[in-house]
This record gives sequence, C-alpha cells and structure tokens, in this order.
Amino acid sequence: MNNSDPDKKLPSLLDYREVVGPDIIEELAILASHVGRKSIKMVNSTAVGGGVAEMLHRIVPLLNELGIQTEWQVIKGDDVFFEITKKMHNSLQGSEETISERAFRTYLSYNEANSKEIEADQDLIVIHDPQPAALIAWNQKRKNKWVWRCHIDLSHPNQKTWNLLKPYVENYDAAIFSSPLFSPQLSIPQYRFYPAIDPLDDKNKQLEKHYVRSVFKKYGIPRDKPIVTQISRYDPWKDPVGVIKAFRLARKHVECRLLLVGDKAADDPESDEVFEKVRAEAGDDPEIHTLLFSPSIPTEINAFQRGSDIVLQKSLREGFALTVSEALWKKRPVIGAAVGGIPAQVIDGYTGLLVYSVEGANLGIRQLLNQPDFAKTLAENGHQRVKDEFLITKNVKRYLLLLLALERPDKQTIFLSS
Ligand code: UDP
Repeated sequence: MNNSDPDKKLPSLLDYREVVGPDIIEELAILASHVGRKSIKMVNSTAVGGGVAEMLHRIVPLLNELGIQTEWQVIKGDDVFFEITKKMHNSLQGSEETISERAFRTYLSYNEANSKEIEADQDLIVIHDPQPAALIAWNQKRKNKWVWRCHIDLSHPNQKTWNLLKPYVENYDAAIFSSPLFSPQLSIPQYRFYPAIDPLDDKNKQLEKHYVRSVFKKYGIPRDKPIVTQISRYDPWKDPVGVIKAFRLARKHVECRLLLVGDKAADDPESDEVFEKVRAEAGDDPEIHTLLFSPSIPTEINAFQRGSDIVLQKSLREGFALTVSEALWKKRPVIGAAVGGIPAQVIDGYTGLLVYSVEGANLGIRQLLNQPDFAKTLAENGHQRVKDEFLITKNVKRYLLLLLALERPDKQTIFLSS
C-alpha cells in the first residue's frame, strides 16, 4: 500500500507491461471488453494495515482503469466491535475462543448499523472477511450479486463460531477462498483466488542499495552478520515468539541477527500485548531487533526485505501471507510454515523451504546460511513463481473472470486458476 505519499501518481496498467509483458495487459483489456459495463463495490473493515487493505489499494484503481467502475468502502467499528471480530477471526482460524451468542448479537448490530450507510447498488458487491460478512442480512431483496471473499485460514475453524457465521455466508451468491484447503461445505458456489502483490508499489519496487543501507542504519540494525527477518503484524498466529526460539537454536551454529518488524492494523487490538510478549522473550539480547510501527513506511518495509539474508514466515495459521510473495519477488530465500496459502508460494526445495516447527525453522536457517548457492537458486525460482501467479495483474484477471463466471452459475465449484 502506498501510504507514504497520498498525492503520488499511481502506476497505470500500461506501466505493468514492462514487468509482466504486453500480452498479459492485452489479455486483460480483451477480458474487460467481454465483461462490458459493470460496477463493483469492495467492502472491508480497515483502510490501513494487513494484506486485504494492501491489495484493495491497488486492485480498485486498476479495475477502474479497465472500465469496471469499482469503489471501496470501509465499515465503521469501535473497540467493542473489533474486540469481537478479532476473537471471531481467531476462532475461525481454529483457536479455542468462542463467540458468545450475546457477542454475536453485538456483532450483528454493528453490521446492521453499517448496512444503513453502505449503498450497495453496484453489479457486484465483494465483502471481505468476517467483519462485514453479516451485511448481507440487511440486503435480502438485492438484485445484484454478492460474494464473500474470505482471506483467512478456514481449514480448522472452531465449529461453534463457524456455525454462527455460516448461515450468513450461505446467503451470498458465491464465496472466494485463498486456498482449496480452506474450502468448507457450503451450499453456494466457491472460487479460489490467490492474493497478489503489486510489483510497482513502494513496498516492492527496486531500491538503491544505499537507501537499503540507510534504513538499517536509521533503526540501529548492524549488518555485520546475516540477517534473518520476519515482517508481520504482532499476532499470535504469526508466531513471533516461535521465530525467536528458532533463531536462538540456529544461532548456536551459524552467525546471524534476527529482525522482527510489525505494524498495527486499525482493526487489530491485540498487537501491543503480543509485542510485549515478544519483547519479554527477546530480553536484552543484542542480536534480536524488534520494531513496532503504526503504521510502517512501505519503502522501509521494502528495504528490510531486500536487506535480509533470509525471510521467515513462521505462521501457525495463515490466510495467504503476502509477505512471502513480497520476499520472493525480491529474490530473497524464504522459509515458510506449511500452513494456509504459504505452500502455494513456497514449494519445498524449489522456491523456498517449508517447515512445520521451531526446530524445522532452525534447521532451515542453518541450511540456507550454510548453502548460499542453494538459497540463491530457491530465491530465483521463487521470483519466477510470483511473476507467474501472484502479481496484481493476475488478481485483476480473476475479478474479470469472476464477473463473467457469476453470469453462468451452473457449477458448484469452479477454480479460477488461470
Ligand atoms: N506489513 C507492513 N508493515 C509491517 C508488517 C506487515 O507493511 O510492519 C505488510 C506486509 O508487507 C504485507 C501485509 O502487511 O504486505 C501483510 O499481509 P499478509 O498477507 O502477509 O498478512 P496479514 O497481515 O494480512 O495477516
């Protein structure tokens, strides 16, 4: 997301020709001409922080450029609402926490209040994630299509919570998941969309080496030893404490420093508490560097990724992990946990290393630091995989295909993989 300079001109579709090739851009124009005059409204719960906001910032203008009138609206909530939705999020990703009926009623009341402020007369309404999922209940007489876009890991949901939400989800015309692994039994059609990164965004664009150096200097992180980095919200599912444990095991055998970077999403009340736990675990270890931003600066995140020798994403549950694609795009060797959408990006031994535990992450760090040529090959392959599958132009294509597919709802499950 580009929050460093709001007046900066965003790249246009033509600017992507140099990255993905002219054929891909032409293909988008052809598809858009088949779609014709259509409009989309995206609805989510935060304008800043996290992968969903990150993607919407780019996908919305690109769809508009292709003639698909696309708007984005953020629902309103306060601490009470976001405490409940964070619990719901955790619970849907499999934690023990359950949502009481009372809390669920409160969740519904916020959705009802928001439904009065959200005009939903576009051809397609895309509701992102559980926070606004119940909006559909106040749009029963709709004539347009409503799709629920689930970005979270729904592979092992807490059934009680899922049972509360599921009837609302089944009201939609379709649901989209980031991995077939998350696809639950539903009475509506389902699609699989991989998320995507923007290669021209400040977060991913090429940077001068001296700028990368200056960012590490600014935050007092010496580059005298290889740097192992995880960049993620401070969230228990991202397992930052596990990262520290893996690092400490690896450090007994290889020289390295650990860098943990995270920012706060407006809809995530948990980060301060998790950050405190991380600080406590790190203690005054001079080789562990922890940074908490609110919000972070995209070019600095880019610099942290580019300046790292290994990028870790040791999540316990994960929707997709844009951070993995971001690191692979920068040709960084990646160690990813075998959860959620990470295995779609990290093909073990080919585009990175997949791990299942703290010990696995420790072995991965040692292997990649001891075998730099192997690490380089993984990173090169990873870059190509991101180019083929996880760039924003592919995401634009999926939305165009979705608009076409929704006009032909004759199949229960269609995987839009091309
Ligand atoms: N991110 C960031 N600053 C941070 C931490 C994360 O800009 O301090 C970005 C990260 O680069 C990525 C997004 O936030 O683009 C996180 O998306 P991801 O899918 O990895 O995880 P989510 O937060 O959506 O669970």
